[in-house]
Amino acid sequence: MSLAFGRHYLAIPGPSVIPDRVLGAMHRAAPNIYQGELVEMMPGLLRDLRRVAGTEKANVAIYIANGHGAWEAANANLFSRGNKVLSAVTGHFGNTWALSARNMGIDVETIDFDKSPVDPARIEEALRADRAHRIKAVFVTHTDTATTIRNDIEAVRKAIDDAGHPALLAVDAIASLGCDPLHFDTWGIDVLISASQKGLMTPPGLSFIWFSDKALAASEGSELVTPYWDWKLRSQSTEFYRYFGGTAPTHHLYGLREALTMLLDEEGLEAAWKRHAALASSVWAAFKAWSRDSDIALNVADKTRRSHSVTGARIGNGGAMRLREWLEKNAGVTLGIGLGMAPPTEPAYGDYLRVAHMGYVNAHMTLGVLSAMEAGMRSLGVPHGTGALDAAAQAIAEAI
Ligand SMILES: *Cc1c(COP(=O)(O)O)cnc(C)c1O
Repeated sequence: MSLAFGRHYLAIPGPSVIPDRVLGAMHRAAPNIYQGELVEMMPGLLRDLRRVAGTEKANVAIYIANGHGAWEAANANLFSRGNKVLSAVTGHFGNTWALSARNMGIDVETIDFDKSPVDPARIEEALRADRAHRIKAVFVTHTDTATTIRNDIEAVRKAIDDAGHPALLAVDAIASLGCDPLHFDTWGIDVLISASQKGLMTPPGLSFIWFSDKALAASEGSELVTPYWDWKLRSQSTEFYRYFGGTAPTHHLYGLREALTMLLDEEGLEAAWKRHAALASSVWAAFKAWSRDSDIALNVADKTRRSHSVTGARIGNGGAMRLREWLEKNAGVTLGIGLGMAPPTEPAYGDYLRVAHMGYVNAHMTLGVLSAMEAGMRSLGVPHGTGALDAAAQAIAEAI
């Protein structure tokens, strides 16, 4: 027997759950792209994109692309072949961004923190060693969605400043924007990358780059950029189509408009951050109980460095893969695969999973997933500590 009939819940770290209101806003005939509502929507959209990133002064470029596209856009705008970047890698996503730069001919120096959070002292050390100031930017992933580490961006800024180095701070916040506190201006970020399909609750297909005037100046003369990806053309536009280098992504813009209204004007950004923190605390509480006397452990031991939008964990002996399959088949829940924790060719690959609590997710959804996971562990005979659901409920009760 299966109990999967009912609304399926895709509890993976993107695409996240799309609110019905966002879907509804997109469900319309092709709108007028010359004048009227859509064109008039643009100043408000740009204003709200700044609000969600905690900036009053950043330039904003919108791309019809996923996050990989925004990575390449940032690479292209910032660099010429042979320019140097320092990349802090704390998981699969940091690695992939660095690889995209390397494949574009950029000289990438990597500090691999081996699936641990960034140690700012090592960034400072690498920058101090760069006496000629060849390093043009430091890449950091805010939340590495694979390990589910959340790095301390302010500490990286401080490391750059303490080293007396002019490098730009470039941050990938695709998995954290709208979920975890993020302040472009006060954290001294120069380049921020995000995308529509995670905390912004909109289908995949839009990505965004916020960039400081310092980054804009540093991008002058970059040889890698082509007109379509040029962030200057996109951010300093006077005609509507130029924001998009062609036809606007009409329906995505309507969806994004609705999502930003829900996030910023109805729930409120700080309330959304608190909701994510509370949901995360219930997931951590459950795992703490499950991990007692068992082969279960969270990926990130340090609580202060855990993402609030997604939690990665190990359930040994292939337990994670079996549990994912059980949940899909019997409970109508899809959990995230364990990305980059072990090669897909090795048995250990089956030991990792991720539970997303990202975007349009409330208490009953997360508690429901945890309960379904407990049922799956019991059904499969996966050894686990007791009291997880009590602990998860307690965490929610305490957070309210
Ligand atoms: C999802 C994600 C990406 C990749 O985004 P795509 O839209 O799949 O290209 C990059 N970085 C982080 C941190 C992500 O979470």
